[in-house]
Amino acid sequence: MTLPTLAVTIGEVKETLRDSLGEFYEPLYKLFWAVWSSNLLKPSQEIYWLYLLSYMALALGVYLWQCKIDAFSINNFLRFLFPQSVYAHKSALLDYKYYIPADLLNNSLQFGVWVITVPGVAEYCKSFLVHTFGPMGSHLDDGLSARVIFTASLVLALDAGNFVGHYLEHKIQFFWEFHKVHHSAEVLTPITNYRLHPMDRILQGSFMSLGVGTVIGVTGYFYDDLPRKITILEVSAIAFFAYYFTANLRHSHVWLSYGWTLSHVFYSPAMHQIHHSCAERHVDKNFGLIFSCWDYLAGTLYVPGQKEDLKLGLKNEEHHEFKSVWALFVLPLKKAASVAVSVILPQPGTALKPGPAVPEGRLAISSLSADRRESCGPLSKATYDLVSDNEIHGRTNVRNTTDSSL
Ligand SMILES: [Zn+2]
Ligand SMILES: [Zn+2]
Repeated sequence: MTLPTLAVTIGEVKETLRDSLGEFYEPLYKLFWAVWSSNLLKPSQEIYWLYLLSYMALALGVYLWQCKIDAFSINNFLRFLFPQSVYAHKSALLDYKYYIPADLLNNSLQFGVWVITVPGVAEYCKSFLVHTFGPMGSHLDDGLSARVIFTASLVLALDAGNFVGHYLEHKIQFFWEFHKVHHSAEVLTPITNYRLHPMDRILQGSFMSLGVGTVIGVTGYFYDDLPRKITILEVSAIAFFAYYFTANLRHSHVWLSYGWTLSHVFYSPAMHQIHHSCAERHVDKNFGLIFSCWDYLAGTLYVPGQKEDLKLGLKNEEHHEFKSVWALFVLPLKKAASVAVSVILPQPGTALKPGPAVPEGRLAISSLSADRRESCGPLSKATYDLVSDNEIHGRTNVRNTTDSSL
């Protein structure tokens, strides 16, 4: 679908809605845009306006690195930044439609998980320490060093919690059925950040809040009052620079690698694009968010040495099943129910179809990787076709390896 065709389609949809909704059209239209744009003003959201600006600035840097400087033009850059093959792809159009209902639901659920889990875990950890070691005689000074340690500990705990949750979502078939929604994207745009099933948010939120609750509980044992976090625009200063500034590049067609050495410390946008690839060498790699150490320790780190062509989506073209907002919400529930039934009732002849990749009588822990490697299909031209094959950093001597876990 070309952009002019897309504009005509949107115009027709608006006219149809105006005719059918009558006087309710205007207030509903305003509500729609209020919800859609609200995350543009929240620094804790990936599509906060400043992060979108930083995305464009970094994309400009990548573009200038790749093209001859005398060939630069605004039009060419805009075509590089917003390729129709990505932004008008049916997968991206579905992301735009899924964004509002998913965001409304997921934000509420994630808030609920945090409110319930973090205080409970923190209280438990503090009580455990008091019970085991007795109360602290004199509490520590909550000066600058305490603030730095507390801020770093929170980010590390959140990152570790995210890694564990994400790892289990890939390794346990029941969880994977929900996480498939995110991996069913055939192209990546910043809105793909929000292509998450509510169960996916609950699972990852639970593990992250376990980590954060533990840090708060342990810190609360040593200090009278919790040290204040060091923040920029309400978010942790470390996450602000190490995650948010590059967050939108992760879900985009713009390839930015940090190079071999730095990628072993910080998780680069290219590493998350690799995570979305269904090529055999990329499957179940790079689960991280901010730091690469968790993937390194788990043996799942994959550091690309140079730009790679990626085919995104699910194996055996399964992503085609996720073709509507309804399917994104409901299909994982059906498939997860099938998996659960196949575990509880392994014998054939049940009302529901057995789960696709679950060994009889148990949840699949390790068979999933092999299952996902079966077929990736031909390389799609939809993504990356406007991005030069040149390396970003021109470091041809950097190791390109599938055993980069070392
Ligand atoms: Zn994943
Ligand atoms: Zn992703």
